[in-house]
Amino acid sequence: MLKIIQAIRGMNDLLPDVLFAWRHVEQVLRDIVESYGYREIRTPIVESTALFQRSIGEVTDIVEKEMYTFEDRNGDSLTLRPEGTAGCVRAGIEHGLFYNQVQRLWYQGPLFRHERPQKGRYRQFNQFGVEAFGMPGPDIDAEMILMTARMWQKLGLSEHVTLQLNSLGDRESRKEYHEKLVAYLSKHHDQLDEDSQRRLHTNPLRVLDSKNPDMQSLIQNAPKLLDEIDAESRAHFDRVRFLLDQAEVSYVINPCLVRGLDYYSRTVFEWSTDCLGAQSAICGGGRFDYLVEQLGGHVAPAIGFAIGLERLIALLEHFHLIPVSDLVPDIYFALVGVEAEDKGLLLAEHLRDALPSVKILMNASNGSLKSQLKKADKSGATLALILGANEIEQEVIAVKFLREEKDQVVVSMDELISFLEKEFVN
Ligand code: ATP
Ligand code: MG
Repeated sequence: MLKIIQAIRGMNDLLPDVLFAWRHVEQVLRDIVESYGYREIRTPIVESTALFQRSIGEVTDIVEKEMYTFEDRNGDSLTLRPEGTAGCVRAGIEHGLFYNQVQRLWYQGPLFRHERPQKGRYRQFNQFGVEAFGMPGPDIDAEMILMTARMWQKLGLSEHVTLQLNSLGDRESRKEYHEKLVAYLSKHHDQLDEDSQRRLHTNPLRVLDSKNPDMQSLIQNAPKLLDEIDAESRAHFDRVRFLLDQAEVSYVINPCLVRGLDYYSRTVFEWSTDCLGAQSAICGGGRFDYLVEQLGGHVAPAIGFAIGLERLIALLEHFHLIPVSDLVPDIYFALVGVEAEDKGLLLAEHLRDALPSVKILMNASNGSLKSQLKKADKSGATLALILGANEIEQEVIAVKFLREEKDQVVVSMDELISFLEKEFVN
C-alpha cells in the first residue's frame, strides 16, 4: 500500500472548524491596534541567516539550536524567520521608514523554530505583533501595555492573565552587571547545568532565562540587574510604572525576566497564564533601542511585543470563549432533474446579485430530492428552495422551512426576491 505522507512534526493544519475562531481573534487584535494608529507590514518568511545572527544574538536558544537554516540553490545561507522583529527592522531600514520618523507597525504570520513539539510549543506557529519606532519616552511603553490589556479585556481574558515587568537598563549598566553575575555564577559552578556552564562566559544573562527547575533557587538568589540599572533607565521604568498604576493595570515586578533574545534594553514585559501548563507565556515584548543601529540604520529607539496565537486561542478554548461559526447558509438550493440543474445555477447567481448578504448553498452534482433535503437539513440552512420540472413549468419555486413547523409554500418566480428579502434582509 502507498505510504501516506503526513505533515511535518510540530507543524499544524488549521482546519475550517477552528479557523472561524482564528479569524475572530485576529480581527479583534487588528481592530484594536489599528484604533491605536498601527499600520500593517508584511515581510518575507525567509531572510538571510546573518540577519537573525546579528539581531537575536549568536548565543541564544534560537540561533544556537532552533533555526531552520538551509543553503539555497545559489549557495546563500537562508533561514525561515524564527521571530518577526528582525525582518520588520530590516525592511524599515531598507525602505527608509525610521530616519527622523515615527512608525507604528503591526504584523502577523507564521514563525519557525526547531523546538521539541509539545502542547503550546510547535515548530511552525503564528504570532501577532506590533513594533513602534522613533519614540524613546516611557509613555509609548505604557500605551503599548495598555493596548495589550485592552485585548485581553475584549476577549474576556483579563481575569486569567498576569503581567510581569522588568527593566534591563542601558548597554553600560548591563556590562557592569555582567561581571557581578559571572562572579556569582562561577562561585556556584557545580550547580549550573550544561547549557548554563557554556553560557557563563558567552552570555551569562541568558542563564537567568533558564527554565530548568533545578536551577531556579540559584537564579532567584542571583544579583539583580534591576538593582544596578542606570539612573535614566530607572527614571524611565518608574514612569512606566506610574502610568500603569494610574491606569489601574496591575503587574508583578520580576527581576529575573530577561526574555530570550539579545536585543532588548530597558522595559521588558510578559503576559502569562497559569491555565495552559508549562507553556504559560502568551505575549512577550520590550524595548530594543539599539537594534536599528545594530542592523546598520540610524539610531532609532523602538519597542514591540508579540502574541503567540496558538496559545491565545488555546486559552480562549479553555474558558469556552470561542465564538461558534456563523458560516451556516441561509438557503439550501435543491435542484431536481437536468432542466432544474441547468436553470438553477443561473437562478442562484441572480439571487446572489439581488441579495448579496444572503448565503446560498447550491446542491451540486444532483441526487434524489430526499437526499438533497437531508443535506439541506444538515447544512443548518433556514430555508430550502426546491426547483424541479413542475416548478419550472409553472414558473414557481417551492420553499420548505427547515427550522420552523410551517407548511411548505410555493412562490412565483416574480415574487421570489421580495419574498426572500422579507425573510432575510431585516
Ligand atoms: P517561551 O518562553 O514559551 O519559549 P519565548 O520567550 O520563546 O516563549 P517569544 O520569542 O517572546 O517567546 O515569542 C512571543 C510569544 O510567541 C510567546 O509568548 C509564545 O506565546 C509564542 N511562542 C513562542 N515560541 C512558540 C512555539 N514554539 N510554539 C508556539 N508558540 C510560541
Ligand atoms: Mg522560546
